[in-house]
Amino acid sequence: MPHYNRSLASKLPNVGTTIFTVMSRLAQEHNAVNLSQGFPDFDCDPHLQELVTKYMKAGKNQYPPMAGVPELRDAIAQKIAALCGTAYDPETEITVTPGATYAIYTAIAALVRPGDEVIVLEPAYDSYVPAIEVHGGTAVYVALSFPDYRCDWEAVQRAITPRTRMIIINTPNNPTSSVFSAADMDALARITRGTAIVILSDEVYEHLVYDGARHESVTRHPDLSQRSFAVYSFGKSYHVTGWKMGYCVAPANLMAEFRKVHQFNVFTCMSPVQYALAEFMQDPQRYLGLARFYQEKRDYFRDRLRESRFTLLPSNGTFFQSVRYEAISDEPDSEFAMRLTREHGVAAIPLSAFYHQPPGHKVLRFCFAKTEQTLYKGTEILRRL
Ligand code: PMP
Ligand code: GLN
Repeated sequence: MPHYNRSLASKLPNVGTTIFTVMSRLAQEHNAVNLSQGFPDFDCDPHLQELVTKYMKAGKNQYPPMAGVPELRDAIAQKIAALCGTAYDPETEITVTPGATYAIYTAIAALVRPGDEVIVLEPAYDSYVPAIEVHGGTAVYVALSFPDYRCDWEAVQRAITPRTRMIIINTPNNPTSSVFSAADMDALARITRGTAIVILSDEVYEHLVYDGARHESVTRHPDLSQRSFAVYSFGKSYHVTGWKMGYCVAPANLMAEFRKVHQFNVFTCMSPVQYALAEFMQDPQRYLGLARFYQEKRDYFRDRLRESRFTLLPSNGTFFQSVRYEAISDEPDSEFAMRLTREHGVAAIPLSAFYHQPPGHKVLRFCFAKTEQTLYKGTEILRRL
């Protein structure tokens, strides 16, 4: 039985436990104000909870269709048409997923083969690279500039080779809070025109864009929409990160490949929640009001930190605020983040967690999706450092 002698070689030898789990656990252990992992510390709209109960009691408790209940896919199609002017066919181009992480993983699983290259802009959300590598692909890194975190599209163009299968973008961006402009999207369209490169666009913070700016979605762009997967998360839009619900949209040829994987992985997602979300989506104010809601939190958090020794970086989108801390410590960011949690009682995410080779910048990310009370408590500590 030769296989009994084979040692278990990990497919992901360099992967440990995600920084979000590590920091939230440490925050709990030390009873710290948890501004690390991105989730609201306030509850969702009680009406949304009532809707789930309503559909559960109405017997919507068996397998829904593989791509998601038609009511929800219709609501998604209507929303994209209204916001971006693009018609996605709910029958063939929209799939409801158990969260955006799953949608990202599935798009990569459906397309990336051993030997393929995927261009990743760094710092990058931490699920992208393991998903590429577990399917035998190679991540090709292009660094966003520091400290303004802009994309050098010429550098992206230089990174393209005949093996480039995909480019992953994330706007608004986690962890940097930067957002792409229409010019960025045009540049991406220009460098990928005439190629077979597919774009995977992580747009989970689509409604969290501040100061009156518009979210630039691939779905809005006539060129990019033809060759992009775009992924979204109800967790971010409706304060229900624990529900793990999201969706993916793509042209029919790409979505057909996506569903080949999806049907044998999860097959479908929780039925009463889908019906509830479909009904809840009927009022667009529920997502259109989010930018104002979170911008107030951002402004409160920034105002409170202005009198600290942290240097605030711009936060143009997402519910994160990054800060430089050179004036406080010269420790590497992961050490500083740990000590801040243990000794001072505030947890943050070190930006090095989002790089394959940390560049040595001294930057922490705080999440401001918290009540004013939590933000007050956290910033009281941070202002004293
Ligand atoms: N992409 C980014 C950039 C995120 O910040 C997150 C979540 N926090 C996700 C994807 C995952 O979303 P979900 O919880 O719906 O899987
Ligand atoms: N996306 C969230 C963040 O950036 C965390 C998600 C997770 O814990 N996997 O903090």
